Amino acid sequence: MRTEGKVGSSLQANLTIAAPAADHALLASLGDDLRFVTITSVVSLALADELAVQVTPSGATKCERCWHWRDDVGHDPAHPTICGRCTSNLHGAGEARKVA
Ligand SMILES: [Zn+2]
Repeated sequence: MRTEGKVGSSLQANLTIAAPAADHALLASLGDDLRFVTITSVVSLALADELAVQVTPSGATKCERCWHWRDDVGHDPAHPTICGRCTSNLHGAGEARKVA
């Protein structure tokens, strides 16, 4: 799939990183924080013999607070324009980050 011109910012990108075992383990150790390290909205990891990175435009909705493109934007009818992470940070217990 050609993606030129379809990703306007890094946060609109979804990444798929295919990596050899050692690199995969290192990246996986970051958990969900990997998306914050790469400044993208979603990162998927896969095992492969060689490193390869695929960028695809997000099909999700942009959160008006954090600008991440997330499937859970509007999950709370009381806050229809923000994502679950922002809802939690503003009105709940807040997010837990480990490394980033
Ligand atoms: Zn948000």
